[in-house]
Amino acid sequence: METIAASHLQLVLEDNEKLNKENEQLKLRVVQLEQELNQLNSKHSLDQSSKKNTLSKPSNITTTTTIEPPTPATCVDLSLTEYLRYGRQLILAGFGLSAQKKLKATSILIVGAGGLGAPAAIYLAACGVGRLGIVDYDVVETSNLHRQIIHNESRAGLSKAQSAKMTVEGLNSFVECNAYDLQLDSSNALPIIKGYDIIIDATDNVATRYLLNDACVITGKPLVSGSALRMEGQLTIYNYRGGPCYRCLYPKPPPPETVTNCADGGILGETYTPNLLLFSAASHPLFRSIKLRPKKSDCEVCGNKPSISKLQDYVQFCGIGVLDKSPTVKLLGTEERINPKEYAAIRAQKARHILLDVREKVQFEICHLPDSINIPLRELPERLEEVKQALPFSNTPVYTICRLGNDSQHAVPLLRGITQGEVKDVIGGFYRWSKDVDTNFPIY
Ligand SMILES: [Zn+2]
Repeated sequence: METIAASHLQLVLEDNEKLNKENEQLKLRVVQLEQELNQLNSKHSLDQSSKKNTLSKPSNITTTTTIEPPTPATCVDLSLTEYLRYGRQLILAGFGLSAQKKLKATSILIVGAGGLGAPAAIYLAACGVGRLGIVDYDVVETSNLHRQIIHNESRAGLSKAQSAKMTVEGLNSFVECNAYDLQLDSSNALPIIKGYDIIIDATDNVATRYLLNDACVITGKPLVSGSALRMEGQLTIYNYRGGPCYRCLYPKPPPPETVTNCADGGILGETYTPNLLLFSAASHPLFRSIKLRPKKSDCEVCGNKPSISKLQDYVQFCGIGVLDKSPTVKLLGTEERINPKEYAAIRAQKARHILLDVREKVQFEICHLPDSINIPLRELPERLEEVKQALPFSNTPVYTICRLGNDSQHAVPLLRGITQGEVKDVIGGFYRWSKDVDTNFPIY
């Protein structure tokens, strides 16, 4: 009991001490604000009196009233409204007025107004960054709204860049915001990037990652790079204070077939990035910090003798497009694929076969076709025996299916030889199934 009471007392004392400190800082701020108000008042009365003087003088005599030079952008000042608005962060030790002014003098370009870009834009706008640029070629969909909190229902169908700009401007009218409703590529990246101090890569595709990296090295801008997949996230700053660029760590892009988009929740080729900050919602500690490898002296873009001095064709370089909605994986020949309508006919004929649903269990539980077997792709190599056991005859065909038709293709090579019958993946997965066969099948 006593121990609890003692620790409670300790907490109260600590709280008290904190409040006292905060009180002192607030008093100090009040004094500063009063001084500034007085200065403004005296300037105002000076202006008024000089106006009166002008009126009383003959019109052919010019007056020389003191006009202050315009404040340069690098030396911004805050208005009284801004002091009040940002007061709670201004009084933070280690932040203070100078950081707030720096923030106001800074311009940041966010590429991608999705799951990472949306919250980044909201917080940067709220805390008072001077100018924001938001690049996104996509439109708002209701399936974005659970995480892309910068958009809302009434914006469905509207450009994400425009929607983000509307939210930013509604949130903080002190922030200048430019929307770029376009797909960033080699032809337009440099002129846009040159207009900003810091670039944030909040995209989810490897081609844009290389494009932004090279553009930032060429223009000398730091590149803040974030990525998120399922329960994990990463954060790094490339090309900053002599540190490495993305190419230093990844000179070659991952094979296209290993990069599925986040729509299918597949395996990203860069899951093992040795990054500055790693987050995992399912591990302890939640955050881990890993030292980056140093800059490579022979890096093709930031090394001692760079061979890349202008932007390339990144879609060709990576072998994969930037669109993240349609599956781009094409692992199999036509002889190992079946389209949803053909497969529906097999079901209608009640022809004997096995339908192997290779989605994760959590997705299988959302919806699935009757009589299908669920073995997630990542477990399949160890669970092949289960498929074998399920075969009624040695020549029973096996069809694989998933949400979008990426994982189902990866499954086919694993199953080759397990049956004398055919092994095929259902092209386009349940996404196409719902379009071509059963419009009542839930799409998520
Ligand atoms: Zn490099």
